[in-house]
Amino acid sequence: MKKIINNFISEIERKNSNEPEFMQAVREISENVLPYIISHDIYHGKNILMRMVEPERVLMFRVVWVDDNGEIQVNRGYRVQMNSAIGPYKGGLRFHPTVNLSILKFLALEQVFKNSLTTLPMGAGKGGSDFDPKGKSDGEVMRFCQSFMTELYRYIGPNTDVPAGDIGVGGREIGYMFGQYKKLKKEFTGVLTGKGLSWGGSLIRPEATGYGTVYFAENMLQHVSKSIEGKTVTISGSGNVAQYAAEKCIQLSAKVISMSDSSGTIYDNEGINPEKLAFIMDLKNNKRERISKYLDQYPKAKFLKNKTPWEIKCDIALPCATQNELNEKDAKALIGNGCICVSEGANMPCNPNAIKVFKSNKILYAPGKASNAGGVAVSGLEMAQNSLRYSWSREEVDAKLREIMNLIHKSCLTYGQEEDWVNYEKGANIAGFIKVADAVLAQGIV
Ligand code: GLU
Repeated sequence: MKKIINNFISEIERKNSNEPEFMQAVREISENVLPYIISHDIYHGKNILMRMVEPERVLMFRVVWVDDNGEIQVNRGYRVQMNSAIGPYKGGLRFHPTVNLSILKFLALEQVFKNSLTTLPMGAGKGGSDFDPKGKSDGEVMRFCQSFMTELYRYIGPNTDVPAGDIGVGGREIGYMFGQYKKLKKEFTGVLTGKGLSWGGSLIRPEATGYGTVYFAENMLQHVSKSIEGKTVTISGSGNVAQYAAEKCIQLSAKVISMSDSSGTIYDNEGINPEKLAFIMDLKNNKRERISKYLDQYPKAKFLKNKTPWEIKCDIALPCATQNELNEKDAKALIGNGCICVSEGANMPCNPNAIKVFKSNKILYAPGKASNAGGVAVSGLEMAQNSLRYSWSREEVDAKLREIMNLIHKSCLTYGQEEDWVNYEKGANIAGFIKVADAVLAQGIV
């Protein structure tokens, strides 16, 4: 088996040797899915996984815009249309200086499995740009978004490809891109998700990824007869996912003691309450300031400069920042401090060696493709509402989100149950694979 997996990986590596993040995602998926394929005749010998790791199409384009000083700026735009076996391409756009093809291909591949797990009819894609919204004026962001969409609009549509937000792309950017799409196409359609409420957005969409990550942690804890109530939680990140993960933890009576950004971590031993969280949200969403400003208002907290939160003692860790933010040393520190549950809010935040540590200690560990699927799930619900030309109430959307997270948890149990623990990574990969593979087989060699 090891040899088959290694041969498969070397073949993919030959074509993608300069894409480390993509290869990391391929490796994780192959190790879980190939043994399943080999032991199931309907999938064996049909190169299904090989077909799934090759994007259906990759678009790469120039984005030119003028900054506030009148200087002409050039960025690179991308859309990876990964897989459309079970629905239109669906997945976020990331605007961050680290964006490159390797990162977008890893995200697009993860999205294939994640979207499949949601039970909704969504294929997978991912896109973005190396544009850095940090420090840019509203006008600069608008001009960039307009230029980006002036190229992308040709390739997307409500039945073709439906982008959304990711790191660096929130309500403001979706608004500017939607406006430009509408102008170019002369059409008001649900071509993007994460829209504003008054123009086709869904209630709970901003909250969905963070809430879903916590619902999934709750499911894992309940499965071993534990509860989130009264538990101490460390969260990394302070963007959309981290903010609403914190909100849900607080609502469920857990104690959140950290949040972070790329400059460091705030550690508040007394717990971040709703008032403190509102302060962080204002800091990040409106003032667009660094997290250390928290101490100006709450001086009893500590600022751990250039540090992640993983050395802080906790029961539950929610990595909600970015890929590979938690390494082997961090994982060992978490285990040493008695952490029992890690639910990924970001995409691939734990590196392979960290995951090995969690698995060998048999703690509750959920990969992002399962635990952070709530965001894209509610995007799917936004698409459904747009098609119906109707909107559901907050309670209705939240109940559907809860139900979808329950179903994902159940799928992970079906395919990941081992003798005395649940391998959520294996469960998520196999369950996600089956639905797409069945569609690929049914649709012939295309
Ligand atoms: N960027 C989010 C994710 O990683 C959401 C994608 C979407 O809503 O389409 O799943």
